[in-house]
Amino acid sequence: MSGRAQLMWDDAVTGYDFGDTHPMDPVRLALTMGLVRAFGLDTAVDLRSAKPVGDSTLRLVHRQDYVAAVRAASADPRSADQSYGLGTVDDPAFAGMHEASALIAGLSVGAAEAVWRGETEHAVNFTGGLHHAMPGSAAGFCVYNDPALAIARLLELGAERVAYVDVDVHHGDGVQAAFWEDPRVLTISLHEHPRTLFPQTGWPEETGSGAGEGAAVNVALPAGTGDAGWLRAFHAVVPELLADFRPQVLVTQHGADTHFEDPLAHLAVSLDAQRSVMESCHELAHRYADGRWVALGGGGYAVVDVVPRSWTHLVGIAAHAPVDPESVVPPSWRDLVYARTRQLGPGRMTDGRTPAWQAWEDGYDPADRLDQAVLASRKAAFPLRGLLT
Ligand SMILES: [Zn+2]
Ligand SMILES: [Zn+2]
Repeated sequence: MSGRAQLMWDDAVTGYDFGDTHPMDPVRLALTMGLVRAFGLDTAVDLRSAKPVGDSTLRLVHRQDYVAAVRAASADPRSADQSYGLGTVDDPAFAGMHEASALIAGLSVGAAEAVWRGETEHAVNFTGGLHHAMPGSAAGFCVYNDPALAIARLLELGAERVAYVDVDVHHGDGVQAAFWEDPRVLTISLHEHPRTLFPQTGWPEETGSGAGEGAAVNVALPAGTGDAGWLRAFHAVVPELLADFRPQVLVTQHGADTHFEDPLAHLAVSLDAQRSVMESCHELAHRYADGRWVALGGGGYAVVDVVPRSWTHLVGIAAHAPVDPESVVPPSWRDLVYARTRQLGPGRMTDGRTPAWQAWEDGYDPADRLDQAVLASRKAAFPLRGLLT
């Protein structure tokens, strides 16, 4: 096996573009890749592209009539069928929509295949993580659900236990829906509470059904949760579930929109805490999944200040060449930022925080809102998995 991680990239991903007024500006991907290169991380990984997913893979998750509707909207955006969530405010149709979406999904599927076949231990596709797409419709800036497609492909290749951990500020609803009745896939989502944020799902009581009862876990965090609470919740839920489930592959989604500067949500997490969770996911992959780790991007709408730094840390961690948070951002990258956005980029790879949290095992406070959120998740899901709350 190559000791080098794979980083999935294709310049054409920036064709995933909902237009000038949409918050998901593809410049975030170009700036992230620019920062990865500015730190020389592109030489610490095997940089590769992959084919767009074809119909036989899309069909593992998406309905055929929906794929046909995406193709039609892609060929003629004015004809987009809103009953499929296409041509809406969140998911405006654009020329080439099918091709760009299938390419991003192809990069996630390619990452999963490489990890499953032992070509590499870790593979990153920060252009993916489009977790809101549903089997039969676009939703929340997502057309094809690349995390679900990557997981479905792993199952098709023979995987029997895949864990999906989603720390985007929004609930990973599309991935949960795709495997709602499937005990082979454990989905864990930490997100801002559905009372205050799209997509208004991800309640602790959502635990899967049928054979998949107990295979969905949701941690709904109070708006305003900061580093200490976010990390406490992660460590109170995720490691224990993975220790018990023993996944063959760990797939993680690292939406950067938990950040305090993100304009679309209300958590108050720093870059430093995001980085800490990335490191934990890496460790957990080694401890419980034989090192098999597929790491994806996700949301993130502070496209200059947050997203590039967050996902550059992710690439560094997966490459076993972590970027020191104290590093100064290379001036060449700040020039790129100015040229592309007329904004001044951030100066350092840190928000200056030192993430710390209180371990759940040391006790909890039933009157504390964060602890109530954690407890609700543990009470709803853990007994279904034979674990103590
Ligand atoms: Zn590693
Ligand atoms: Zn999000």
